[in-house]
Amino acid sequence: MPELPEVETVKEVLKQQILNETIERVDIYYDKIIAYPTSTLFKGKVVGQKINAIKRRGKWLLFVLDEDILLSHLRMEGRYYIKEQKEIPSKHVHVVFTLSSGRELWYADTRKFGRMVLQNKEEVEKRAPLNALGLEPWDEALTPLYLKEKLKKKTIPIKTVLLDQSIVVGCGNIYANEVLFLGKVHPLRKANTLTKKELENLIQNIRLVLAKAIKLGGTTIRSYESSEGVHGRFQNALSIHEQEICPSCKEKVIKIFVGGRGTYYCPNCQKK
Ligand SMILES: [Zn+2]
Repeated sequence: MPELPEVETVKEVLKQQILNETIERVDIYYDKIIAYPTSTLFKGKVVGQKINAIKRRGKWLLFVLDEDILLSHLRMEGRYYIKEQKEIPSKHVHVVFTLSSGRELWYADTRKFGRMVLQNKEEVEKRAPLNALGLEPWDEALTPLYLKEKLKKKTIPIKTVLLDQSIVVGCGNIYANEVLFLGKVHPLRKANTLTKKELENLIQNIRLVLAKAIKLGGTTIRSYESSEGVHGRFQNALSIHEQEICPSCKEKVIKIFVGGRGTYYCPNCQKK
């Protein structure tokens, strides 16, 4: 599943390729990908608008058009491809944007879980999905005090809190495992028991892990690659996720499930 670093990588690749293109035509082969508005309205509004910027908020890609913002969530398997010439899209390509240069932007998704939403620029921050998102990892407002306040009544595991996108965005399962290992925090620690110092470390480690993953182009695990020909290399830099031996103390790594997600930790370095 693409997480923040992978989406960031896709964003950068798309920015280099299709910025300032005008969308001349849209073909939608699977209507459900368009979550809002209807696919007919979506087509009608998008055609003729220029792609002025491409941004990211949480795991949403934001195509900033003239009037509207096209939000795109890749979910499990969504991918974008830029095609130079007219090729016949495979059955996994669900949306095709024809651009003013004659090239095409394909949205492919083998599992069809990805979604697109089109909203007016003025409304986008006030409405779902963006209004439900927590702080970006590099937001200055993300401080130990902010977390202390958010977590004061939470007796759920800190691992679960890291995955909760309404507090801080971007820490998917792999990265949450890495962040807790770096901070020597047991994944089942009750969230409200973390000290201010531990929360400070947590924030630093979130930034550290995500920045490193972005630098390495994200993590290519199993079937996911961020875009055509783009392979992440963070999987070679993992310390604890899917590892057998702790790189720090050589203890055997333990795997448990927290909220259904595979959670790896070192019982020696991350005491409860
Ligand atoms: Zn260890």
